[in-house]
Amino acid sequence: MTLLPNYKDIVELIKKGATIEAQEKIMELREGALEVQEENIRLREKVKELEDKLNKKENVIWEAPFYWRKDGDKKDGPFCAQCYDKAGNLIRPLDHKNGVWTCPTCKNIYKDSSYRDPSPQSGSHGWDAFT
Ligand SMILES: [Zn+2]
Repeated sequence: MTLLPNYKDIVELIKKGATIEAQEKIMELREGALEVQEENIRLREKVKELEDKLNKKENVIWEAPFYWRKDGDKKDGPFCAQCYDKAGNLIRPLDHKNGVWTCPTCKNIYKDSSYRDPSPQSGSHGWDAFT
């Protein structure tokens, strides 16, 4: 894109009575404005294209404690929440098969819904015999 003529310069030219030169500058200005408009349209198209791509590719959903990527009907994951929140990286945590997951990158420890606390809880179990 060429540098647009300065509006002040045009005013100066008119003041000096140099109307031909001023007209030339005004023409330049109009051409410049058209260029800017066209570029604006191109950029808008590009932004839309990238947004569409992003939405399609990174259809990331949150299901505590992880992120998942939805790909049509399929669900890919899980991915470390901390890494995604921090840097937008989809990192697969390691499954320790007991409901515990660890992220190889940020070392965060996750417990999913299958995790059972190893220390016995005093709950309602003792009362089952009476009902
Ligand atoms: Zn992580």
